[in-house]
Amino acid sequence: MSNTKLKKLIIVGAGFAGLRALYRLDEFNYHFEVTVIDKNDYSLERPALPEVAMENKPVESVHITTPPQFRRYNAGFIQAQVKRIDAKENKIVLDDDTKLEYDYLILASGAVKDYDAIKGYQEFGYSVCDDKEAPKLHERLKSFEGGNIVTGAAKSEFGHRVEAPNLKAPCEGPIGEVMFMMDYRLKKEGIRDKSTINVFSPSKIFFEDVGESAREPVAKLMEEKGIKLTTNKELVEITKDKVIFSDGSSMDCDLAIIIPPYKAPSYISDSGLGDDKGWVPTDKNMKHLDFDNIYAIGDINALAQPKLGHVAINQADVAISAIARAEGLSDEEVKFNPEVFCIMNMGGHDAVLIYSNALYNGEYDMAWHSSLAKFMKLSFDEEYHYTHGHMPPDYTVEMLEEILHHFGKRK
Ligand SMILES: Cc1cc2nc3c(=O)[nH]c(=O)nc-3n(C[C@H](O)[C@H](O)[C@H](O)COP(=O)(O)OP(=O)(O)OC[C@H]3O[C@@H](n4cnc5c(N)ncnc54)[C@H](O)[C@@H]3O)c2cc1C
Repeated sequence: MSNTKLKKLIIVGAGFAGLRALYRLDEFNYHFEVTVIDKNDYSLERPALPEVAMENKPVESVHITTPPQFRRYNAGFIQAQVKRIDAKENKIVLDDDTKLEYDYLILASGAVKDYDAIKGYQEFGYSVCDDKEAPKLHERLKSFEGGNIVTGAAKSEFGHRVEAPNLKAPCEGPIGEVMFMMDYRLKKEGIRDKSTINVFSPSKIFFEDVGESAREPVAKLMEEKGIKLTTNKELVEITKDKVIFSDGSSMDCDLAIIIPPYKAPSYISDSGLGDDKGWVPTDKNMKHLDFDNIYAIGDINALAQPKLGHVAINQADVAISAIARAEGLSDEEVKFNPEVFCIMNMGGHDAVLIYSNALYNGEYDMAWHSSLAKFMKLSFDEEYHYTHGHMPPDYTVEMLEEILHHFGKRK
């Protein structure tokens, strides 16, 4: 087949969602000319960032170098920032004003972590959300001699064009990791008794994306470890020795470790592709509500609640199966199945595996505290890295889900 007949498919972003889409497209590589655009030439393994900050994991080991993978999968790669999309003309505009045409566009450029929305963050705040912030926290911890630690997520805003749970904090799992890993680390350093760990949540309920059966064991562990929780607190400012909330209250704080508000990238709204808060509204095939040849997967999608790699992977599978059906290449339909599946590192040999679809009134809701869960997390991180962003084979995921379905029935 000559190249001129291939359909031009562009993927913007090579994170969890974009890489998965690329790998899934391989089956149909005779039909598409694929180009990936990313501002970086690596994919960031975000779930391993708490280990960079708190367990001495080198930051390079959470970067997956992507250009060799693009060559291997016969995809073109342009390292650039997308500036605008002209959806009516099927064109994408890069930061140097280059224009590229597409037949299909898959938006997978994630959520922007809006640190600047929190006054004082740049001077006094710390985070684990990206590869600049996690090493900065790692450096700070080297000289931390005990004190008041405050950790929590700031409030994010979501639109109303699609029906999805409107979470105030779309990903509180990393806060769970910070509080438990800090507890472990401070004990190991002999300074736990000189420290407090206070957690805040913008929601009425900490971990509002899961049900009671998953929350209870976590709450019990927090109590055992003397980790205090305050809910309904919207962070507005960090100072040298306090964090300040929107209701005027504050907490004493020597070290603030936060998840900033998530916001949609501005190029989406600038291109008229966003909902009332800028997130991309799609149907359950991940197809844009207004444009048949634009798909959105991962954190950027308004349906992605909570915002998790696990959800991003499912959305990539859904989108590729929908595009393959639209092109008459396959009958297979992968369904959108949002659920929480994450493993919270607790430091040492411990972790908590959380599996729940209670947010969507599903049947499963569990938290499993075990050293086996820690082993699973470390194995996943290693495998994901050394296979250059491939998820474990489908049959292993199906086997694990069968076990979790057996033990994780919602009470
Ligand atoms: C600390 C932490 C721990 C986490 N732990 C877990 C976990 O245990 N389990 C889980 O399921 N989820 C976890 N998550 C959530 C998970 O990491 C995200 O949901 C996931 O990374 C989303 O994938 P994505 O592909 O949508 O976006 P991203 O991974 O953010 O990738 C977006 C890509 O787009 C590129 N890009 C962005 N803007 C542009 C632009 N304008 N032009 C070109 N390229 C662009 C970026 O360079 C990046 O490569 C965690 C998140 C954090 C922060």
